[in-house]
Amino acid sequence: MTGPDPETKMQFLFALRSRGVTDAQVLDAMEQIDRGPFVRGIFAERAYEDTPLPIACGQTISQPSVVGLMTQALQVSPRDTVLEVGTGSGYQAAILSKLARRVYTIDRHARLVQEARALFDALSLPNVTSLVGDGSFGLPDQAPFDRIIVTAAAEDPPGPLLAQLKPGGIMVVPVGQSDAVQTLIRVRKTQAGLEYDELRPVRFVPLLEGLGKDT
Ligand code: SAM
Repeated sequence: MTGPDPETKMQFLFALRSRGVTDAQVLDAMEQIDRGPFVRGIFAERAYEDTPLPIACGQTISQPSVVGLMTQALQVSPRDTVLEVGTGSGYQAAILSKLARRVYTIDRHARLVQEARALFDALSLPNVTSLVGDGSFGLPDQAPFDRIIVTAAAEDPPGPLLAQLKPGGIMVVPVGQSDAVQTLIRVRKTQAGLEYDELRPVRFVPLLEGLGKDT
């Protein structure tokens, strides 16, 4: 894996900054994780564009600046255990692996999890555990989590995920109808209850029930 040439890399990082990704640790993690290997086939040559791209099973790898903004909003610390719902290509989980102590990532498509797992091994990211399942129910055996990030759109933040968030924890999730522009929200679990912040409009594939048919 050779990575982008210096000019392409500079443009990639410039696009992130100009779209609001300013957190030095997040930018550093995104500089360390090359997006190239996470994009396959005919779209590989567009890996460094700030755009979502198709991956297997009819899914997408998210736009890099949105990945950066969501990671920034999650405020991850090095001691955190993070749950990601929606492994997709594995790109977001790989970035989180550079910021957190432990990352669990779950997807309803076994093929995506298998391919992402192969990349986590190839990139020597031993603190990422990837699992197949319906992530709307979270991972009760590993809960509670310091941070939860959902990379598919739900109508509302799923109750089981809210329950699996530690006190003081943060969840970032796109909410809204799947065929419309959704709103990225941040939920904080405080002693007084749940606090909600609306962050920005986004467009994500829907959070679906059950396991997916691999294609
Ligand atoms: N984070 C991914 C990345 O870095 O490439 C992009 C995620 S993609 C936009 C959304 C993913 O959510 C898809 O891979 C889809 O299969 C997954 N998904 C949708 N509903 C799900 C559910 N209930 N449980 C787990 N994964 C789900």
